[in-house]
Amino acid sequence: MKRKSIILACLLVLCLPGGVLAEKKIPILMYHSIAKFEGKGDKDLYVSPEDFEKQILYLREHGFTPLTFEEWDKREKVNKPVFLTFDDGYKNNLKAYEIFKKLKTDDFTPKGTFFVISDFLGRKNRLSKSDLNMLAASGLISVQSHTATHPNLTKVKDLAAELKGSKEAIEKITNKPVIALAYPFGSFNQRVIDETKKVYDFGLATSINESGGKDRQYELSRIFVTGSMTLDEFAKRVDRNRQKASE
Ligand SMILES: [Zn+2]
Repeated sequence: MKRKSIILACLLVLCLPGGVLAEKKIPILMYHSIAKFEGKGDKDLYVSPEDFEKQILYLREHGFTPLTFEEWDKREKVNKPVFLTFDDGYKNNLKAYEIFKKLKTDDFTPKGTFFVISDFLGRKNRLSKSDLNMLAASGLISVQSHTATHPNLTKVKDLAAELKGSKEAIEKITNKPVIALAYPFGSFNQRVIDETKKVYDFGLATSINESGGKDRQYELSRIFVTGSMTLDEFAKRVDRNRQKASE
């Protein structure tokens, strides 16, 4: 009897935390502009098209499977799942889409999630409504919400316009469900999570320590791919996450 319970305890230790860890350590990459840095703004927010293409090639050559959040349930069934996300809806993200199309093969479908700011659509340097319509129809880009006006949500009193309003505005353009929200500046608190839950299935942060509790899907942390990151560093980041997953 005693031995049985020891074996059971060992099995639990072996199986349970492994599974939980595996779920937490899927790399979710975060990009902003896919363009050459021209000296204005924060250099780290710019990944050049050349570097970006090398990173996607790395994923292709190493057997990764890019997923979007609609495919969340597939994450434990595919080889090396990875999520590619792009914040702020810059016009230059069209370059990422072009590179996806260029590197697509029968065995590898690069795809990503564009988190756009619904009130900023069509502004200078931002994606337009017709861009979003085309991207969503391509099957390579999932268009999701980064709120209506990009505020720090923890300081917004009435969250409805930012959360529900942006979701509805984007759905009207793409005719596809909007199920994920990226918190501007990665800022959120329990109130933001509770309100997000009413409208979305996922909430994306930046890099934080996840609580691992019931709200895990609303505290997803991401790997910030910076403009100064070398391909070697990129490889280490995506693979480090994967190694932890199999520990
Ligand atoms: Zn942002």
